[in-house]
Amino acid sequence: MIQFHTRIPNHFDLPRRINRLGDLAYNLWWTWQPNAQRLFSRIDNDLWERLSHNPILLLRQLERSALNEVAQDSQYLALYDSVFAEFDRYLAKKDTWSDKTHPELASKPIAYFSMEFGLHETLPIYSGGLGVLSGDHLKEASDLGLPFVGVGLMYAEGYFSQRISEDGWQDALNNPLRFGDMMVLPILTEDGKPLTVSVEMPDRLVTLRLWEIRVGRIPLFLMDSNVESNKLEDRTLTARLYWSDLDRRIMQEIVLGVGGVRALRALGYNPSVWHMNEGHAAFLILERARELVAGGASFADAIEKTRGQNVFTTHTPVPAGNDEFPLWLIDKFLASLWPELGLNRDQFVDLARNKQSWGESFSMGVLALRYSEGRNAVSELHGHVARKMWHSLWQDQEVDDVPITYVTNGVHTDNWMARRLGLLYDKYLGPEWRECLDDPETWTKLDKIPPGELWAFRMHQKRKLSFRIQEWARTRWSKGGFHPVQVVASGALIDPYVLTIGFARRFATYKRAGLILRDVERLLRIINRPNMPVQIIFAGKAHPADEPGKQMIQQIYRTVKIAETEGRLVFLEDYDMNVARYLVQGVDVWLNTPRRPMEASGTSGMKASLNGVLNFSVLDGWWREAYNGKNGWAIGEDKEPDVPEIQDEADALSLYSTLENEIIPLFYDRNADMLPMDWIEHIKNNLRTITPQFSTRRMVKEYVERLYVPAAK
Ligand SMILES: *Cc1c(COP(=O)(O)O)cnc(C)c1O
Repeated sequence: MIQFHTRIPNHFDLPRRINRLGDLAYNLWWTWQPNAQRLFSRIDNDLWERLSHNPILLLRQLERSALNEVAQDSQYLALYDSVFAEFDRYLAKKDTWSDKTHPELASKPIAYFSMEFGLHETLPIYSGGLGVLSGDHLKEASDLGLPFVGVGLMYAEGYFSQRISEDGWQDALNNPLRFGDMMVLPILTEDGKPLTVSVEMPDRLVTLRLWEIRVGRIPLFLMDSNVESNKLEDRTLTARLYWSDLDRRIMQEIVLGVGGVRALRALGYNPSVWHMNEGHAAFLILERARELVAGGASFADAIEKTRGQNVFTTHTPVPAGNDEFPLWLIDKFLASLWPELGLNRDQFVDLARNKQSWGESFSMGVLALRYSEGRNAVSELHGHVARKMWHSLWQDQEVDDVPITYVTNGVHTDNWMARRLGLLYDKYLGPEWRECLDDPETWTKLDKIPPGELWAFRMHQKRKLSFRIQEWARTRWSKGGFHPVQVVASGALIDPYVLTIGFARRFATYKRAGLILRDVERLLRIINRPNMPVQIIFAGKAHPADEPGKQMIQQIYRTVKIAETEGRLVFLEDYDMNVARYLVQGVDVWLNTPRRPMEASGTSGMKASLNGVLNFSVLDGWWREAYNGKNGWAIGEDKEPDVPEIQDEADALSLYSTLENEIIPLFYDRNADMLPMDWIEHIKNNLRTITPQFSTRRMVKEYVERLYVPAAK
């Protein structure tokens, strides 16, 4: 085995008394620990905000005098000591849930492969929900003490930054990231050279550098093809997320699947469970079979052996959403693999052959489903859809018996919950609530929270959001290139006392961001109702190649700009995890309008819920499981659309009338103390039913019990 190390660079010039801040900066644990965050923000809050919460840059740019000052401030030092005591305790903990419940897993690492990881706003290696789910999965695995390791790609430019032109057109900015300024560590060999692995491409090798991000107790290893010895075109393979041209797309997936296995080997890992988060990583199946065949096994034995250890999570409810490659591309990139597996071309293609209207293809979904013993969808409804969609692979069984189960997604509570709500829970549920987060019993004590205190918390979050939106608008305006109407469009007139609805997500067309604009006249009457106004805040990016998605943004932006909105419709630029955090903590209602059943699960509504924000959504994905009539509102009915266009019209009418007749009156119905008592009751029902169930605590435990433990046998 090659010896390697990742050493935290000693490039911070810190006073001795606080010199461990450098260690803390390189472990993402601080990102879900409010007190640890304050160790950074308290030194210079303005700089902290300006640097978008980047502790590496902060520690480098701070004046020595500011550091000396806190190093002598007894309050700061008390916080410092308590955070590091907690940090050390966390990293060394020996009686975690995993230790206690599944000691047999201790020597059996679980490898988790994903094309994207959403961990923090300063690490733009995610594009949306899939990535944020991967990031939350790692954080929870760390909290539960699982022997876990993540594998992904380190993108040289990351996902793009979004600017909106005066006419509402999305411009994508791609700038090279400076890894040295990020919470990313190079992996080096003993003699200080980068540790690399390589993968075969037609007539050449592509060399990959390895990087590590520390997520609490868990390492995330990332590969990057920007290595000098590579051909120029190969150096950009990992520059951006999801190249649209198929050549580069298949190469990216070879890097992830094949390169990922080799990276783990180079790092000395021998995982017992191989979890593919979506089909992009499915080439790992072939690489592991190749290893076994090289060791003397027959292909049939090899693929059987790997199958038992593989777990595959599908997220895509439409056939077209799964990655498929035309066979000529398979010939071009994988022909050298066939003999290594002891297969001819036909036998190889048979592993994942799929019939399409345009011809035959090699389907990553088919490959992953066939050769994974554990298979799951991400909500109950999505489970039905997936079993129906893949019935052809198990033709001799009834649809309901197709062996694809479901594990409904969750979100990492500490990562998404406002600090103040945690304090309220400490006070009224008892400080042990975090440990018993997924136990419904914990939540029976919720009624102890006085309505006034809960509402004061909500109002605090709303003011915080309004203030932040105005700061963003101010900064953006001062940078130039912004038309005055864009200042209004970005929320300069926002009012924290008004009922506020949030709509933020990727602008994929099935999400129907424009649904609420179907009848603009009616919408204007709703938002400008005397004494009962409403604000709607939109945010989201469209994939740069998604023209209809970009047109949808433009349609919304053009409406946002009209004077008749009185500044109550807002579009925030550059949706990312930071904007998401402010929104899910600071609005009153979270709107989601997917075309059922396209939203396999959805997770942003869960983040909103756990902050006391009420969901108003189509009964798709997770919301169909969570909605009980008293914890939020449904749009439309619990059934699939027959004709999509008719469904759009029906859903829009349902949306307007529920808003007019239920949501708005409930919010503005105040008692003598100006408290909306029935609304607060809804919030409590929502917290009680959703926080425990739609957490990664519940989700990762379910993955362990139902998928990892059987695979690790
Ligand atoms: C949670 C999150 C998502 C996922 O949102 P859904 O539309 O609910 O799937 C996307 N982007 C960001 C930045 C998020 O934080």
